[in-house]
Amino acid sequence: MTAPPSRVLPKLPPRLPTINYLAGYAAELQAQVQDQLAKGTLGERLQRRYAEPHGVRTDGMLYDYTMALKSRHLRNAEPLSKVVYDNRLHVIRNALGTHTTVSRVQGSKLKAKREIRIAGLFRTLPAEFLKMIVVHELAHMKERDHDKAFYALCRHMEPGYHQLEFDLRLCLMHAEATGQALWPA
Ligand SMILES: [Zn+2]
Repeated sequence: MTAPPSRVLPKLPPRLPTINYLAGYAAELQAQVQDQLAKGTLGERLQRRYAEPHGVRTDGMLYDYTMALKSRHLRNAEPLSKVVYDNRLHVIRNALGTHTTVSRVQGSKLKAKREIRIAGLFRTLPAEFLKMIVVHELAHMKERDHDKAFYALCRHMEPGYHQLEFDLRLCLMHAEATGQALWPA
């Protein structure tokens, strides 16, 4: 296989998000957010609300951070073998993070290894959003689907979970529409 020829991508003007990050929320609320986005007030509001950076920069730090939350809230869940940032994870729909069970044959028995991958963009997002996504992926260790039990577990680990998930959607919308980072690396 030959590599495709390298090319310089043209710089595109701001555009409306191609993904509806707020699908499932009330139409009135969606209109309100679109209005704030158009007026340019959405970004400022998010910056004012979330200003606390985190120092969880490496995969090792991310593993320790996740394990601290797990041992506080999900002590009896199965062991977690790996937690890493993954720059290849595209932030589309629910692929903010992934949780997988990798089966490996060890000796004669099949051993399941749990892994969590967190989208690389969370390295530079404020501390609250990192906690939100780690809580989300940890909750999947107990609850597979995004159902009532799942969100109850998320709220148990982070009482402000719903607001954070909503605001994260706003951040992603803002980033896609403006091409600007609200919190530079
Ligand atoms: Zn999920």
